[in-house]
Amino acid sequence: VKAGGRNNYEYYTESMRKAAVNRLNLLNDLRYATENGEFFIEYQPIITLETGRVQKAEALIRWQHPKRGLIRPDDFISIAEESGLIIEISNWVFRQVCDDINYLRKNYCNELQLSINTSASHYFSTAPSIMEWLDVLLNTHTPSNALVLEITESLLMDADKSVTQKLFQFRQAGVSIALDDFGTGFSSISYLKKFPTDYIKIDRSFVNSMTEVSNDKILCEAIIVMAKKLGIEVVAEGIETNEQLNILKNMGCEYGQGYYFSKPVKKAQFETMLRNQLEN
Ligand code: C2E
Ligand code: CA
Ligand code: CA
Ligand code: CA
Repeated sequence: VKAGGRNNYEYYTESMRKAAVNRLNLLNDLRYATENGEFFIEYQPIITLETGRVQKAEALIRWQHPKRGLIRPDDFISIAEESGLIIEISNWVFRQVCDDINYLRKNYCNELQLSINTSASHYFSTAPSIMEWLDVLLNTHTPSNALVLEITESLLMDADKSVTQKLFQFRQAGVSIALDDFGTGFSSISYLKKFPTDYIKIDRSFVNSMTEVSNDKILCEAIIVMAKKLGIEVVAEGIETNEQLNILKNMGCEYGQGYYFSKPVKKAQFETMLRNQLEN
């Protein structure tokens, strides 16, 4: 910035101030967003690579802000987590997903599994506790084997005994656990020893560079081989090209997700995909 004799220092403090104000405004708006019904869910299909069929999808939250338009989760989830609002927001997502599971299973695919992203703070909270979700499953007659909880390493990094116990309880109730963004942290592999895991989701950064960086391809393959031996199924994230798809398929990867198949779509559009699949 050249204007008006401003130096870099002023420039940075000014932009930092703006960022802080922006966060504060978003936080205020976030408080009302749940009550005002400003959130909605998009589903990104997860493809069974061998058959090409869609029997799974990941729920991704969207915020339709009345003035700012569509806001992506990367721009508000951290604010929701810091403020504690994440619990209310996650509960909202969870209930929507339960409704959708019941409706979609009944009408289109009785093996359908929907996965949702969960936040670390939710597992640490005791009142309200994330274990209330098991009651919701019962009360809404939602089959527990239709639900997958995605967890990230940052959750497991600080996990104490109570968190581990909660994960085991979910699993005991029939809910599946997926390790999200696998390979991006420092100790992904050690978590496989400690935590119950049904799925590994290979982070899209590996898939992305697989065709250029031979090490990333080797790592992908090693993850898939290791997972197989452990009885864990693998989902490759961020598949964007046919080349990536073929490599992963040849490596024996079970599931794929990414723009090559479909971007995240509104529920109605996801429903259409499932319907078309019924007719084939
Ligand atoms: P994630 O869990 O790793 O979700 C995958 C993200 O990658 C999504 O971004 C998805 O749209 C994007 N993606 C999928 N396929 C491709 C591809 O082929 N190429 C590229 N470049 N991107 C692809 P999205 O929807 O913006 O979500 C960002 C993150 O926000 C998620 O990352 C997740 O950590 C978080 N998030 C989303 N929904 C929720 C939620 O309901 N609760 C919580 N706690 N976090 C959420
Ligand atoms: Ca995820
Ligand atoms: Ca991910
Ligand atoms: Ca991510």
